[in-house]
Amino acid sequence: MECCRVAKPVLCQLCYGIAMTRSDKFCSGCGSRLAMQELEGQQRPVCPRCGRVVYYDPKLAAACVIERAGEVLMVRRAVQTGYGLWSMPGGYVDRGEPVETAAAREVKEEAGLVVEIGPLIGLFSDAGNPVVVAAYAATETGGVLAPGPESLDVGYFPVEGLPPLAFPRDEQIIRRWRAMRGSSG
Ligand SMILES: [Zn+2]
Repeated sequence: MECCRVAKPVLCQLCYGIAMTRSDKFCSGCGSRLAMQELEGQQRPVCPRCGRVVYYDPKLAAACVIERAGEVLMVRRAVQTGYGLWSMPGGYVDRGEPVETAAAREVKEEAGLVVEIGPLIGLFSDAGNPVVVAAYAATETGGVLAPGPESLDVGYFPVEGLPPLAFPRDEQIIRRWRAMRGSSG
């Protein structure tokens, strides 16, 4: 299996797998070593002694489409997943954090801008991918455009001339956003 550090970062099961199973070597009920077993059509860690099954939740991320003069804000990633490639500003939602707050926080962290979160563009998920993205349209209200510690560069790009993308999903999000804008005038 390809490692996510090499290619197809979001679709890589391996590294998310490690992150999600590292704490699940042992049964939280009886302490026995868990074994992978097919259950309801999926490989899941199962306790051979007491039968406890570990079910994995999806991971929620939030992203923003921010427009300035007909162009959209993109961030060049300085983190391993998709290093050097571009994406809309976004990241993981903390447990207990409102999704809109996470979306705005990520924009501030990655691109220096303060935004007001607007309508939900959609929820984006794929089979076999643990990450679900909630994408919002957002409006700049302040801040100064500058790359944060997890960004190599930031900039606005025309929709027809986006830079090389880290996540194929971003194209889908932009398409949906354009359709939404078109229908609302
Ligand atoms: Zn057990």
